[in-house]
Amino acid sequence: MASIRARLTATYAAALVGTMLVFGATLWIGRGASVQRELERYAGAQANIALRLTATIRRKSKPDAPAPLTEIRDTLVGPTVVPELYTLLEAIPDFVILVDDHGGIVYGSREARLLSSQSLQDILTSAPGLNPSTVGRAQITRDTIDPTRRKAWEGRGLPRDDDLLIVRRNADPTLAPIQYVIGGTSVGPSDRAQRELLGSMLAVAPFVLLVSLVVAYYMAGNTLRPLEQVRAELEAITDGRSLHRRLHVESSGDEMARLAATLNDMIGRLETSFGGLRRFTADASHELKTPLTVMRANVERAMSVPPGAAEQLVALEEALQELTRMADLVDSLLTLARFDEGRFDLHREAIELEPIVQDVFETAVILGEAAGLQISMPVLESATVLGDAARLRQLFLNLVTNAIKYTPVGGTVELSVRRTDETVAVSVRDTGIGIAAADLPYIFERFWRADRARSRRAPGERGAERGGFGLGLAISQWIAQAHGGALTVVSRLTRGSTFTVTLPLMGEQVIPAAAAPPAYAVHDGAD
Ligand code: ADP
Repeated sequence: MASIRARLTATYAAALVGTMLVFGATLWIGRGASVQRELERYAGAQANIALRLTATIRRKSKPDAPAPLTEIRDTLVGPTVVPELYTLLEAIPDFVILVDDHGGIVYGSREARLLSSQSLQDILTSAPGLNPSTVGRAQITRDTIDPTRRKAWEGRGLPRDDDLLIVRRNADPTLAPIQYVIGGTSVGPSDRAQRELLGSMLAVAPFVLLVSLVVAYYMAGNTLRPLEQVRAELEAITDGRSLHRRLHVESSGDEMARLAATLNDMIGRLETSFGGLRRFTADASHELKTPLTVMRANVERAMSVPPGAAEQLVALEEALQELTRMADLVDSLLTLARFDEGRFDLHREAIELEPIVQDVFETAVILGEAAGLQISMPVLESATVLGDAARLRQLFLNLVTNAIKYTPVGGTVELSVRRTDETVAVSVRDTGIGIAAADLPYIFERFWRADRARSRRAPGERGAERGGFGLGLAISQWIAQAHGGALTVVSRLTRGSTFTVTLPLMGEQVIPAAAAPPAYAVHDGAD
């Protein structure tokens, strides 16, 4: 929880820092580019002014004698611009130099005159590489030798070393001997402005970061609060007994509300399962307790009489019967437990139903005779299914013994095997006591019996008994489902019942990987 909050906060802060970086870099680069364009325009404009001023002097030419632009006043210095042009050019505030066709500087503005001769020379050497569409940069040093010049730049607070942005503008041939003009301006101030921008951005950054961290931490806490609430409520559901509790579901319908609703559904399912399991355990223990009580009574009886007495044998025989009954119950429970686990080891193979049903029928005839019933099998169509012969036999036998158990003397039990295109239906119809419509939904549930009191023999009671555990139909249904089939029932109280197993014919079978275990909704009735 705490770590999710920390991670959310860190992610938010990282995103913000990233955004700030991108924004700052864009601003910085954009600002730099616009300043550069401005400087270029400015330097170019100065060079153009110088050319236009030069042209003004040339326009004063007479038809036969062009007005001179340069003159040699000092042979050591070489050609310089005529005083008239010099006066005009002195109005240019920044760096400008005029170069004649010998490559010599014929005029340097006041700004240019502050540079060391080496720097001027460097600018001259880089000038031929420049053309009107390019700009250059020159690292310059201001003159430190001439004290007047030095005072001039120091007085204006200019640095000794500086960077100049320079542009070159070629002169029109009519302006000969002037060949080109170089305009320039110091990039120092603009660099400084950019550095200041960066500085102020860096100064604000920690503050923005801190504020965003606090906001993010608060927001993350707010977002996670409902989750913490769900966790606390879940923590309160400690065991099976507190499964009746439900989480509070907000009406907002947001993710948290949906999560709570889903968890509630899950708790509901768990509650049903737990309840079923509890009842199942109670029922199973109860069913085991009865034979144990009977056995104990019988063993005690056997011990209380002289050895070898006839009564002793009767008591032991009864104890043995109860033991067999208990073994049957444990066997059924084990089968169901394996089903639930999905470990029903069916030996699937192609089997003919005809001999199995025939065999079951013969057993039914013997049992039916003893019970005074008429057993018949009017239809026995042949069918092949993919399945486990032993399990299917168990299933059919369950249905037949139930039919015999729950049909009074004189009734009939009828077996039939009918096949359709894709399935085969094995039906067991009886004219017995039937099942009430209200009971039908429960008959496949474990330990469910229509009349529990009568179906179990009382301790000490002897003779014929209906004595099922209420597990037979649950097992039968599982067997049918494990074969990709179904077990259905149609019944009316006092009129009889028809149980039908429908199985897919071989080739049509879709065997479930593991049939879903039914809810252990065992009836609540007490004995
Ligand atoms: P039991 O071992 O008690 O027969 P089953 O699971 O086989 O357990 O059957 C569950 C209950 O369904 C029975 O106790 C009985 O009440 C009812 N039942 C099953 N088969 C029939 C039938 N053919 N006729 C009437 N009731 C039946």
